[in-house]
Amino acid sequence: MDSAGTEGGSLLIRNVEIAGRPNLDVRIADGWIREIGTGLTGRNELDGRGGALIPGLTDHHIHLLSLEAASRSVRLENARDFDDIVRIVQTFASQLQDGAWIRAVGYHERIAGPLGLPELDIISPRHPIRIQHQTGALWMLNSLALRSISTDGDPDCVEKDKKNRPTGRIWRGDRWLRRQLGTTRPQFRKIGERLAGYGITSLTDASVTNDHTSAAILANARRQGDLPQHLMMMSGGELARSPDGAYEIGPVKIILDEANLPPIDSMCEQIRSARRWGRAVAVHCVTYAELAFTLAAFESEGTQPGDRLEHGALIPWDAISVIKSMNLTVVTQSAFVFERGARYLSEVLPQEIEDLYRCRSLRDAGIGVAGSSDAPYTEPNPWVGMRSAVERRAAGDNRAVGSAEGITSAEALSLYLTGARNPGGAPRGVVVGGAADLCLLNEPIRDALPQLSEELVAATIVSGHIVFMA
Ligand SMILES: [Zn+2]
Repeated sequence: MDSAGTEGGSLLIRNVEIAGRPNLDVRIADGWIREIGTGLTGRNELDGRGGALIPGLTDHHIHLLSLEAASRSVRLENARDFDDIVRIVQTFASQLQDGAWIRAVGYHERIAGPLGLPELDIISPRHPIRIQHQTGALWMLNSLALRSISTDGDPDCVEKDKKNRPTGRIWRGDRWLRRQLGTTRPQFRKIGERLAGYGITSLTDASVTNDHTSAAILANARRQGDLPQHLMMMSGGELARSPDGAYEIGPVKIILDEANLPPIDSMCEQIRSARRWGRAVAVHCVTYAELAFTLAAFESEGTQPGDRLEHGALIPWDAISVIKSMNLTVVTQSAFVFERGARYLSEVLPQEIEDLYRCRSLRDAGIGVAGSSDAPYTEPNPWVGMRSAVERRAAGDNRAVGSAEGITSAEALSLYLTGARNPGGAPRGVVVGGAADLCLLNEPIRDALPQLSEELVAATIVSGHIVFMA
């Protein structure tokens, strides 16, 4: 699982601040912190310039395959005109590897009239692109896209001009197009780099759909170094261990849908299955009913260490003591408060606002709370989540959203400082004998905490290898 970076896995990080102590050097070898002191010498040095060295961050709830798919799709329904489309697509393209396909959806003629090959080649000069019409009946391809698929055999769906050349317009040709394109192989390099840029060294993929196919895809991304972060995988059913440790097995994920709750027995049976597989349980809880149902099932089956409530989007005051007594961890996404705050303020009853994505009251009750993004449903940037956990304000209009649930900057950072195995537990430290999964900030911690910004990340180190440098 070695990523490129440092030779022989040895590294000397010079002049860093650890837990408030300045001017320290850290020697790393074979993925472990071997020595912390002053005046250490060695080859392969990284100058910390007095910045804080903290444990690498963990995103405790993310959906990597969905994030990857979202990273390949552009939404055009809100584009204003042709120039706006060009801007949106080219911004998107700047994040892609060369030659990667762009999939755009939601186009309508009201935006910029009918699109032909000349327009599509301006929209995407360097990447093959296919743009879907809002009706779903039509795909519009640029020249690069047309060239990379075969239009031989003249299927009826491929529109031709008078000289019998394809126009780039494919009518009701989804199945044919899919055959031509094959299944797009997910590309994780950009995502891995982006997450490393945030200081993330460890991920928990919380997708209920994870199975041996997704495990193979993600394990492959780990082996190739595209995804440098340690990975723990949840799944809805049984999941085979990775023979080379490309991923760890996490809890069994249970999804509930308030509109369609199963008989409680069937959820109890899911919990019993998880126990047979030796796994904890993580339950998706976003409504009062889903939470009540989950707590009833745990009441019946009992809890074990590692059991967790995902989201905890609405937790009534009365439930806090029950969650504490069951020793459940809440894996929250404070970024929703920021990103969807305005919507919550208009749609959620005023007395329910304080139940939204609780943090302070849970911590005060002694409940373990862990931080996560739920990306792609919020930005995968943990610093957005941290700021939101502190400020509790809606994006755009900056109105307060349950500000009593706000926590301090240090507490917000600590939500991301435990390993994937220990969400909501005590934050890891930077200590001799500890794993060299680290995040180097460009400021001492007292200057970093008031900012809580991704701009602070100077370097990210996974298993002793530098995977990101600002
Ligand atoms: Zn999720």
